[in-house]
Amino acid sequence: MIGLLGGTFDPIHYGHLRSALEVKEIFGLTEIRLIPSAQPPHRQQPMATALMRLDMLKLAIENQPGFVADDREIRRIGPSYMVDTLQSLRNELPEMPLILFIGTDAFNHLKTWHRWSLLFSFAHIVVMTRPGFIPQALDDCFIERHTDQLTELAVNSAGKLYFHQVSQLDISATTIRNMIAEHQNPGFLLPDTVIAYIRQHQLYLRQ
Ligand code: ATP
Repeated sequence: MIGLLGGTFDPIHYGHLRSALEVKEIFGLTEIRLIPSAQPPHRQQPMATALMRLDMLKLAIENQPGFVADDREIRRIGPSYMVDTLQSLRNELPEMPLILFIGTDAFNHLKTWHRWSLLFSFAHIVVMTRPGFIPQALDDCFIERHTDQLTELAVNSAGKLYFHQVSQLDISATTIRNMIAEHQNPGFLLPDTVIAYIRQHQLYLRQ
């Protein structure tokens, strides 16, 4: 099974890396692909360029077995729709179970995503919940896909919905950018190699 984690990664931090490692181990993934979006359709545009965000991602996962930086959204032109990303992965990996990991916020807005119902044709979706999170009443389209059996994800290549609790670290890229703009030290929130890159390229000095 291959896991997919999309995001702006502006910059990547230990919140992303810790949950990636956790799901890689628990779901027995051969790979976890981190996929930076070039032009996120649902949010404010990132501050660092797509190539810089990819550079930082590569620095952060250096020497982490099974962690892969996937640059397909950056190579594509136009808005970074997840459905297009999943379709292109599915073309490359016809039989492989693919799991798209998303946060609960993203799940609550899933129906606003471009061609959202097709997402399940290409991958499973695992919602990473916070401890104590109770999913809201699920719509029928989600109930029929929902499973609480992890094994069902391995025996099907796509189409299931699963909720999984991760230990979310209270770190966000927004907080890190604000700290840097206020000349505070973001140490221990993200890898030192990424902090060095941010300093070298003078990123995030303005809010
Ligand atoms: P920003 O503060 O700029 O909105 P962010 O820190 O939330 O950024 P994103 O790149 O938007 O980071 O997040 C990518 C994915 O990682 C999303 O699915 C998000 O839910 C998840 N994520 C972000 N922060 C954490 C965290 N601290 N722990 C676990 N998952 C996280």
